Amino acid sequence: MSSSPLDLDHDTMRRLGRRVADVVAEHLATLREQPVRAAAPRGETRGRIGGPPPERGTDFETLLARLRADVFPLHAREPHPGFMGFVPGCPTFPGVLGDWLATGHNFFAGVWTVAAGPNEVEMTVLDWMRGWLGMPAGAGGILTSGGSAATLTAIVAARHAAIHAAPREIGRLALYTSEQAHSSVERAAWIAGVPREQVAAIPTDDDYCLRVDALAEAVWRDREAGLIPFAVVATAGTTNTGAVDPLGEVADLCEREGLWMHVDAAYAGFAALTGRGRAALAGIERAHSITLDPHKWLFVPFECGCLLARDPRALGAAYRVTPEYLRDVERAPEDQEVNFADYGGQLTRYARALKVWLAVSYFGTDAIAAEIERGIARAELAERLVRAEPALEVLSPARLAVLCFRARGWGQEGAELDALNERINARVNATGRFLISSTRLRGAFSMRICPLGFRTTDDDIRAVVAAVLRAAGEEQEQEQKLTTDEHG
Ligand code: PLP
Repeated sequence: MSSSPLDLDHDTMRRLGRRVADVVAEHLATLREQPVRAAAPRGETRGRIGGPPPERGTDFETLLARLRADVFPLHAREPHPGFMGFVPGCPTFPGVLGDWLATGHNFFAGVWTVAAGPNEVEMTVLDWMRGWLGMPAGAGGILTSGGSAATLTAIVAARHAAIHAAPREIGRLALYTSEQAHSSVERAAWIAGVPREQVAAIPTDDDYCLRVDALAEAVWRDREAGLIPFAVVATAGTTNTGAVDPLGEVADLCEREGLWMHVDAAYAGFAALTGRGRAALAGIERAHSITLDPHKWLFVPFECGCLLARDPRALGAAYRVTPEYLRDVERAPEDQEVNFADYGGQLTRYARALKVWLAVSYFGTDAIAAEIERGIARAELAERLVRAEPALEVLSPARLAVLCFRARGWGQEGAELDALNERINARVNATGRFLISSTRLRGAFSMRICPLGFRTTDDDIRAVVAAVLRAAGEEQEQEQKLTTDEHG
């Protein structure tokens, strides 16, 4: 053993590690008894946590106690059974341990020669995902920090493919997505240098799916105007409503027009593990590239996104750069030994593949597919319950585990109805038992639930719909009371 004080002895490491495992296990096992979310204003958190860096060390138990008292309570518990807002992050415990094993070994997964084992794991899980999505053999990719990073990585590769021979044309590039696309798409296009006014948000149809006729027209108009259309980003499972763009038709158009087709399947890509999901995502396999987010519906901890590319050489062409100090680790593409640093914007990167591999291998794909199917079914149950209540109405049906709905109110319209629903939403969240989120559909405020976490039960779905009804009743009572007071 070294004499460095930073080099803890074996027993100490085991003792501290076990304490941490205990804390996490206790947290996860008692989620249902905890509030879904606890927040605090900065003024309070700074007082509890802030301060200068300590010059001397502090014993681990004291630090852990401080974290448990002042830090851990103040967060939204995404894996909580009542967390049905946004897109819940609900990792399995083996997934969590996979992260711990990766960081514990501090694998450097940027190049092959220093991490052949972990990199083979990454190639393996990428190939699993390729198979699930039906992409052809030979497709490859890279795991990223999340969906936003995956889409950015793809758009930069598409840009390179379009204009690497004439880079000065960057100002003429035009990219197309739908007005329901996730904001990460337009941001990625901006970062990649596509002028903001040339990122087109194509209108959607009544089901919130991209209108291919409008897309074709926009491409034609832009070409006429001297722009260079180069990429279309379709969505397979929008964040707002779970809508899937007509992927086959988009693929036809991209083929005809010579455009790079990227599919943002960050939200719903892993639904492909189920029969229904595979049918809903038909056509996705024709994309040049696909964004996936294992930290959503593959039950892997944050951060884990994935970019699959039909021809991974397109990633290498866009990203590979070999300075002198990295000649030792250079790999030729024909070696099939991927330097993941050549496929994206990160050189030093950790082996996030381990958590995917461990989580999927521990449970097996059957169990994971069944869980995804149950998430879809829970949203459908919620839809049936909402439809059975005269006081509520569905704004977008349950699709791939997303349901949008609102209270009808008692005569309110427009902004008033929106405000009522916003207050109902807030009341439901104030119970501490549920977290639901909201969105706007064609301008109207909508409550939105996305019950894909595996701790959420059918009873939780019944309870959340009951909580919405109760909140609507309380709002009505309060208004009646105000009216009586005014007139009495
Ligand atoms: N695309 C879609 C459809 C999403 O729903 C999300 C996140 O919810 C993203 C992209 C962004 O992914 P990330 O938050 O992992 O960057």
